[in-house]
Amino acid sequence: DTLINQIAAGEVVERPASVVKELVENALDAGATRVDIDLEEGGVRLIRIRDNGGGITPDELPLAVSRHATSKIASLDDLEGVATLGFRGEALPSIASVSRFSLSSRRADAGHGSVLEVDGGRVGEITPKPHPQGTTVEVRDLFFNVPARRKFLRAERTELGHIEEWLRQLALARPDVELRVTHNGKPSRRWKGEGDLLSGTRLHEALGEEFARNALRVDHAAAGLRLHGWIAQPAYNRASTDQQYLFVNGRAVRDRSVAHAVRQAYSDVLFHGRHPAYVLFLELDPRRVDVNVHPAKHEVRFRDARLIHDFVYRTLHEALADTRA
Ligand code: ADP
Ligand code: MG
Repeated sequence: DTLINQIAAGEVVERPASVVKELVENALDAGATRVDIDLEEGGVRLIRIRDNGGGITPDELPLAVSRHATSKIASLDDLEGVATLGFRGEALPSIASVSRFSLSSRRADAGHGSVLEVDGGRVGEITPKPHPQGTTVEVRDLFFNVPARRKFLRAERTELGHIEEWLRQLALARPDVELRVTHNGKPSRRWKGEGDLLSGTRLHEALGEEFARNALRVDHAAAGLRLHGWIAQPAYNRASTDQQYLFVNGRAVRDRSVAHAVRQAYSDVLFHGRHPAYVLFLELDPRRVDVNVHPAKHEVRFRDARLIHDFVYRTLHEALADTRA
Protein backbone atom coordinates (compact mmCIF):
# COMPACT_ATOMS: atom_id res chain seq x y z
CA ASP A 1 0.00 0.00 0.00
CA THR A 2 2.91 2.33 0.71
CA LEU A 3 3.99 2.03 -2.91
CA ILE A 4 0.48 2.82 -4.19
CA ASN A 5 0.34 5.81 -1.88
CA GLN A 6 3.72 7.00 -3.08
CA ILE A 7 2.54 6.75 -6.66
CA ALA A 8 -0.58 8.76 -5.79
CA ALA A 9 1.67 11.23 -4.01
CA GLY A 10 3.27 11.89 -7.39
CA GLU A 11 -0.03 13.42 -8.51
CA VAL A 12 -1.20 15.08 -5.33
CA VAL A 13 2.08 16.19 -3.79
CA GLU A 14 4.28 18.05 -6.18
CA ARG A 15 6.07 20.25 -3.65
CA PRO A 16 5.67 21.73 -0.14
CA ALA A 17 2.99 24.15 -1.39
CA SER A 18 0.76 21.22 -2.40
CA VAL A 19 1.11 19.75 1.10
CA VAL A 20 0.16 23.08 2.68
CA LYS A 21 -2.82 23.32 0.35
CA GLU A 22 -4.16 19.86 1.13
CA LEU A 23 -3.68 20.24 4.89
CA VAL A 24 -5.19 23.70 5.14
CA GLU A 25 -8.15 22.59 3.02
CA ASN A 26 -8.72 19.76 5.48
CA ALA A 27 -8.66 22.29 8.31
CA LEU A 28 -11.27 24.40 6.53
CA ASP A 29 -13.43 21.36 5.81
CA ALA A 30 -13.27 20.67 9.55
CA GLY A 31 -14.75 24.11 10.24
CA ALA A 32 -11.58 25.82 11.49
CA THR A 33 -11.70 29.58 12.05
CA ARG A 34 -8.00 29.84 12.77
CA VAL A 35 -5.11 28.02 11.13
CA ASP A 36 -1.48 28.21 12.24
CA ILE A 37 1.10 27.37 9.63
CA ASP A 38 4.69 26.78 10.74
CA LEU A 39 7.31 26.20 8.09
CA GLU A 40 11.00 25.43 8.10
CA GLU A 41 13.30 25.63 5.11
CA GLY A 42 10.56 26.48 2.65
CA GLY A 43 8.44 23.65 4.02
CA VAL A 44 10.91 20.95 3.01
CA ARG A 45 12.18 20.40 6.54
CA LEU A 46 8.87 21.04 8.31
CA ILE A 47 5.24 21.88 7.62
CA ARG A 48 3.08 22.04 10.72
CA ILE A 49 -0.59 22.96 10.36
CA ARG A 50 -2.68 23.41 13.46
CA ASP A 51 -6.40 24.14 13.33
CA ASN A 52 -9.22 24.75 15.78
CA GLY A 53 -11.72 22.70 13.80
CA GLY A 54 -13.86 19.77 14.87
CA GLY A 55 -11.03 17.30 15.41
CA ILE A 56 -10.80 13.54 14.88
CA THR A 57 -11.65 10.76 17.33
CA PRO A 58 -8.77 8.38 18.23
CA ASP A 59 -10.34 5.42 16.43
CA GLU A 60 -10.71 7.47 13.24
CA LEU A 61 -7.03 8.45 13.12
CA PRO A 62 -5.97 5.30 11.21
CA LEU A 63 -8.85 5.82 8.79
CA ALA A 64 -7.72 9.36 8.08
CA VAL A 65 -4.36 8.08 6.84
CA SER A 66 -5.69 5.14 4.85
CA ARG A 67 -6.36 5.27 1.19
CA HIS A 68 -9.69 6.49 -0.18
CA ALA A 69 -11.14 6.84 3.30
CA THR A 70 -12.95 10.13 3.27
CA SER A 71 -15.54 11.24 5.79
CA LYS A 72 -16.84 13.82 3.34
CA ILE A 73 -18.84 11.89 0.76
CA ALA A 74 -20.73 8.67 1.23
CA SER A 75 -21.94 7.89 -2.27
CA LEU A 76 -21.51 8.63 -5.94
CA ASP A 77 -24.51 10.93 -5.66
CA ASP A 78 -22.60 13.09 -3.22
CA LEU A 79 -19.79 13.38 -5.74
CA GLU A 80 -22.26 15.09 -8.05
CA GLY A 81 -22.48 18.05 -5.72
CA VAL A 82 -19.32 18.19 -3.62
CA ALA A 83 -19.51 21.03 -1.11
CA THR A 84 -16.23 20.35 0.70
CA LEU A 85 -12.74 21.11 -0.61
CA GLY A 86 -11.63 17.49 -0.16
CA PHE A 87 -13.45 14.32 -1.21
CA ARG A 88 -10.91 11.90 -2.68
CA GLY A 89 -9.46 10.64 0.59
CA GLU A 90 -5.95 10.40 -0.75
CA ALA A 91 -4.10 13.47 0.49
CA LEU A 92 -3.13 12.28 3.97
CA PRO A 93 -2.06 8.75 2.94
CA SER A 94 -0.10 10.19 0.01
CA ILE A 95 1.68 12.80 2.13
CA ALA A 96 2.32 10.30 4.94
CA SER A 97 3.96 7.89 2.48
CA VAL A 98 6.63 10.39 1.47
CA SER A 99 7.46 12.10 4.78
CA ARG A 100 7.81 11.67 8.51
CA PHE A 101 4.24 12.40 9.40
CA SER A 102 2.16 12.82 12.52
CA LEU A 103 -1.52 13.51 13.05
CA SER A 104 -2.62 14.77 16.48
CA SER A 105 -6.17 15.67 17.33
CA ARG A 106 -8.83 16.13 19.93
CA ARG A 107 -12.54 16.53 19.53
CA ALA A 108 -14.36 18.91 21.84
CA ASP A 109 -16.12 16.05 23.62
CA ALA A 110 -12.96 13.99 24.21
CA GLY A 111 -11.07 14.06 27.50
CA HIS A 112 -7.66 14.04 25.91
CA GLY A 113 -6.00 14.14 22.53
CA SER A 114 -4.29 11.36 20.57
CA VAL A 115 -1.50 11.11 18.09
CA LEU A 116 -0.73 8.75 15.24
CA GLU A 117 2.68 8.74 13.60
CA VAL A 118 3.45 7.49 10.12
CA ASP A 119 7.04 7.15 8.98
CA GLY A 120 7.45 6.94 5.23
CA GLY A 121 4.13 5.11 5.01
CA ARG A 122 4.65 2.82 8.05
CA VAL A 123 1.72 3.46 10.37
CA GLY A 124 2.48 3.40 14.11
CA GLU A 125 0.30 3.06 17.21
CA ILE A 126 -2.29 5.51 18.46
CA THR A 127 -1.06 7.06 21.69
CA PRO A 128 -2.62 9.61 24.05
CA LYS A 129 -1.25 13.13 23.83
CA PRO A 130 -2.45 16.45 25.22
CA HIS A 131 -3.92 18.59 22.45
CA PRO A 132 -6.34 21.52 22.37
CA GLN A 133 -9.56 21.02 20.41
CA GLY A 134 -8.69 20.64 16.74
CA THR A 135 -6.00 18.99 14.73
CA THR A 136 -2.27 19.33 14.14
CA VAL A 137 -0.55 17.71 11.20
CA GLU A 138 3.22 17.64 11.08
CA VAL A 139 5.08 16.80 7.91
CA ARG A 140 8.85 16.53 8.26
CA ASP A 141 11.51 15.84 5.65
CA LEU A 142 9.27 15.76 2.62
CA PHE A 143 10.39 13.16 0.05
CA PHE A 144 13.13 11.88 2.38
CA ASN A 145 12.46 8.37 1.03
CA VAL A 146 11.90 9.38 -2.61
CA PRO A 147 15.24 10.83 -3.79
CA ALA A 148 14.01 11.16 -7.38
CA ARG A 149 11.36 13.64 -6.21
CA ARG A 150 13.49 15.32 -3.62
CA LYS A 151 15.94 16.43 -6.25
CA PHE A 152 13.17 18.41 -8.00
CA LEU A 153 12.66 20.59 -4.97
CA ARG A 154 13.89 24.14 -5.50
CA ALA A 155 15.66 26.65 -3.29
CA GLU A 156 14.04 27.55 0.04
CA ARG A 157 12.92 30.96 -1.30
CA THR A 158 11.29 29.41 -4.33
CA GLU A 159 9.38 26.80 -2.35
CA LEU A 160 8.34 29.45 0.19
CA GLY A 161 7.21 31.68 -2.68
CA HIS A 162 4.90 28.92 -3.96
CA ILE A 163 3.44 28.48 -0.49
CA GLU A 164 2.89 32.22 -0.10
CA GLU A 165 1.20 32.45 -3.47
CA TRP A 166 -1.20 29.70 -2.53
CA LEU A 167 -1.83 31.30 0.87
CA ARG A 168 -2.69 34.55 -0.91
CA GLN A 169 -5.37 32.70 -2.88
CA LEU A 170 -6.66 31.19 0.31
CA ALA A 171 -6.66 34.57 2.06
CA LEU A 172 -8.84 35.91 -0.76
CA ALA A 173 -11.18 32.93 -0.76
CA ARG A 174 -11.64 32.79 3.02
CA PRO A 175 -11.34 36.25 4.61
CA ASP A 176 -13.27 34.91 7.61
CA VAL A 177 -10.43 32.60 8.63
CA GLU A 178 -7.45 33.84 10.60
CA LEU A 179 -4.10 32.65 9.28
CA ARG A 180 -0.80 32.88 11.11
CA VAL A 181 2.35 31.90 9.30
CA THR A 182 5.88 31.45 10.63
CA HIS A 183 9.01 30.56 8.70
CA ASN A 184 12.15 29.27 10.40
CA GLY A 185 10.72 30.25 13.75
CA LYS A 186 9.89 33.86 12.86
CA PRO A 187 6.41 35.28 12.21
CA SER A 188 6.19 35.89 8.46
CA ARG A 189 2.56 36.71 7.80
CA ARG A 190 -0.64 37.26 9.72
CA TRP A 191 -4.08 37.49 8.18
CA LYS A 192 -6.68 38.53 10.72
CA GLY A 193 -10.14 37.08 10.28
CA GLU A 194 -12.59 39.49 8.65
CA GLY A 195 -16.26 39.46 7.75
CA ASP A 196 -15.64 39.57 4.02
CA LEU A 197 -13.40 41.10 1.38
CA LEU A 198 -15.60 44.19 1.13
CA SER A 199 -15.27 45.20 4.76
CA GLY A 200 -11.69 44.43 5.64
CA THR A 201 -8.17 45.17 4.44
CA ARG A 202 -7.38 41.77 2.99
CA LEU A 203 -7.87 42.73 -0.63
CA HIS A 204 -5.34 45.56 -0.22
CA GLU A 205 -2.94 43.35 1.66
CA ALA A 206 -3.16 40.56 -0.89
CA LEU A 207 -2.95 42.58 -4.10
CA GLY A 208 -1.64 45.98 -3.07
CA GLU A 209 -3.06 49.50 -2.78
CA GLU A 210 -2.67 50.13 -6.51
CA PHE A 211 -4.96 47.29 -7.35
CA ALA A 212 -7.52 48.24 -4.72
CA ARG A 213 -7.60 51.87 -5.92
CA ASN A 214 -8.25 50.89 -9.51
CA ALA A 215 -10.48 47.92 -8.92
CA LEU A 216 -13.96 48.00 -10.34
CA ARG A 217 -16.49 46.15 -8.21
CA VAL A 218 -18.63 43.65 -10.07
CA ASP A 219 -21.61 41.74 -8.77
CA HIS A 220 -24.17 40.22 -11.08
CA ALA A 221 -26.46 37.24 -10.92
CA ALA A 222 -28.59 35.57 -13.58
CA ALA A 223 -29.75 32.09 -14.56
CA GLY A 224 -28.50 30.56 -11.32
CA LEU A 225 -25.02 32.02 -11.83
CA ARG A 226 -23.38 34.75 -9.81
CA LEU A 227 -20.15 36.55 -10.64
CA HIS A 228 -18.73 38.96 -8.12
CA GLY A 229 -15.39 40.47 -7.25
CA TRP A 230 -13.06 43.04 -8.77
CA ILE A 231 -11.43 43.74 -12.09
CA ALA A 232 -8.76 46.41 -12.36
CA GLN A 233 -9.26 49.31 -14.72
CA PRO A 234 -6.63 50.07 -17.40
CA ALA A 235 -4.62 52.41 -15.15
CA TYR A 236 -3.60 49.23 -13.37
CA ASN A 237 -2.95 46.34 -15.65
CA ARG A 238 -0.13 43.89 -15.80
CA ALA A 239 2.60 42.70 -18.08
CA SER A 240 1.81 39.14 -17.00
CA THR A 241 -1.15 37.09 -15.81
CA ASP A 242 0.18 37.03 -12.24
CA GLN A 243 -2.81 38.77 -10.64
CA GLN A 244 -5.64 36.79 -12.12
CA TYR A 245 -7.60 34.99 -9.46
CA LEU A 246 -10.68 32.93 -10.17
CA PHE A 247 -12.61 31.07 -7.51
CA VAL A 248 -15.38 28.68 -8.43
CA ASN A 249 -17.60 27.98 -5.44
CA GLY A 250 -14.76 29.13 -3.22
CA ARG A 251 -12.14 26.92 -4.81
CA ALA A 252 -9.16 28.56 -6.53
CA VAL A 253 -9.04 27.18 -10.05
CA ARG A 254 -7.53 27.84 -13.43
CA ASP A 255 -9.99 27.77 -16.26
CA ARG A 256 -9.05 28.69 -19.80
CA SER A 257 -12.56 29.39 -20.94
CA VAL A 258 -13.37 31.81 -18.11
CA ALA A 259 -9.92 33.44 -18.41
CA HIS A 260 -10.65 33.91 -22.10
CA ALA A 261 -14.04 35.48 -21.41
CA VAL A 262 -12.47 37.99 -19.01
CA ARG A 263 -9.67 38.89 -21.39
CA GLN A 264 -12.10 39.24 -24.27
CA ALA A 265 -14.45 41.55 -22.36
CA TYR A 266 -11.51 43.61 -21.20
CA SER A 267 -9.99 44.06 -24.63
CA ASP A 268 -13.34 44.60 -26.40
CA VAL A 269 -14.16 47.53 -24.14
CA LEU A 270 -10.76 48.95 -23.39
CA PHE A 271 -8.79 47.98 -26.48
CA HIS A 272 -5.83 47.27 -24.32
CA GLY A 273 -3.19 44.68 -24.98
CA ARG A 274 -1.96 44.11 -21.47
CA HIS A 275 -3.33 41.67 -18.91
CA PRO A 276 -6.19 42.62 -16.62
CA ALA A 277 -5.74 41.98 -12.91
CA TYR A 278 -8.77 40.48 -11.25
CA VAL A 279 -10.23 38.62 -8.31
CA LEU A 280 -13.46 36.98 -9.39
CA PHE A 281 -15.79 34.60 -7.65
CA LEU A 282 -18.12 32.48 -9.70
CA GLU A 283 -20.89 30.76 -7.83
CA LEU A 284 -23.24 28.15 -9.16
CA ASP A 285 -25.03 24.98 -8.19
CA PRO A 286 -22.25 22.45 -7.42
CA ARG A 287 -24.03 19.94 -9.66
CA ARG A 288 -23.24 22.16 -12.63
CA VAL A 289 -19.51 21.82 -12.14
CA ASP A 290 -17.27 18.76 -11.90
CA VAL A 291 -14.40 19.29 -9.49
CA ASN A 292 -13.11 15.75 -9.81
CA VAL A 293 -11.06 16.36 -12.93
CA HIS A 294 -7.54 16.16 -11.52
CA PRO A 295 -6.15 14.81 -8.21
CA ALA A 296 -4.76 18.23 -7.29
CA LYS A 297 -8.17 19.81 -8.04
CA HIS A 298 -6.76 22.88 -9.80
CA GLU A 299 -9.21 22.47 -12.63
CA VAL A 300 -12.94 22.10 -12.96
CA ARG A 301 -15.23 21.12 -15.80
CA PHE A 302 -18.45 23.04 -16.33
CA ARG A 303 -21.46 21.15 -17.56
CA ASP A 304 -22.48 24.18 -19.64
CA ALA A 305 -19.14 25.84 -20.39
CA ARG A 306 -20.47 27.96 -23.26
CA LEU A 307 -23.19 29.51 -21.12
CA ILE A 308 -20.70 30.33 -18.37
CA HIS A 309 -18.24 31.85 -20.81
CA ASP A 310 -20.96 34.12 -22.18
CA PHE A 311 -22.24 35.04 -18.72
CA VAL A 312 -18.75 36.08 -17.58
CA TYR A 313 -18.12 37.93 -20.83
CA ARG A 314 -21.40 39.85 -20.73
CA THR A 315 -21.19 40.69 -17.03
CA LEU A 316 -17.72 42.17 -17.34
CA HIS A 317 -18.36 43.81 -20.69
CA GLU A 318 -21.29 45.68 -19.21
CA ALA A 319 -19.47 46.69 -16.03
CA LEU A 320 -16.43 47.92 -17.93
CA ALA A 321 -18.50 49.71 -20.57
CA ASP A 322 -20.33 51.61 -17.79
CA THR A 323 -17.03 53.12 -16.67
CA ARG A 324 -16.51 54.47 -20.20
CA ALA A 325 -19.96 56.02 -20.50
P1 ADP B 1 -10.34 14.12 1.99
O1 ADP B 1 -10.05 15.52 2.42
O2 ADP B 1 -10.42 13.98 0.50
O3 ADP B 1 -11.50 13.49 2.70
P2 ADP B 1 -7.77 13.52 3.18
O4 ADP B 1 -6.79 12.41 2.93
O5 ADP B 1 -7.31 14.92 2.93
O6 ADP B 1 -9.08 13.20 2.36
O7 ADP B 1 -8.27 13.41 4.69
C1 ADP B 1 -8.82 12.16 5.12
C2 ADP B 1 -9.84 12.34 6.21
O8 ADP B 1 -9.16 12.73 7.42
C3 ADP B 1 -10.86 13.43 5.99
O9 ADP B 1 -11.98 12.94 5.25
C4 ADP B 1 -11.25 13.83 7.42
O10 ADP B 1 -12.24 12.94 7.91
C5 ADP B 1 -9.98 13.58 8.20
N1 ADP B 1 -9.21 14.82 8.42
C6 ADP B 1 -8.07 15.21 7.78
N2 ADP B 1 -7.61 16.38 8.24
C7 ADP B 1 -8.48 16.79 9.19
C8 ADP B 1 -8.56 17.96 10.04
N3 ADP B 1 -7.65 18.95 9.97
N4 ADP B 1 -9.60 18.02 10.91
C9 ADP B 1 -10.52 17.04 10.98
N5 ADP B 1 -10.50 15.93 10.21
C10 ADP B 1 -9.49 15.80 9.31
MG1 MG C 1 -8.32 16.58 2.05
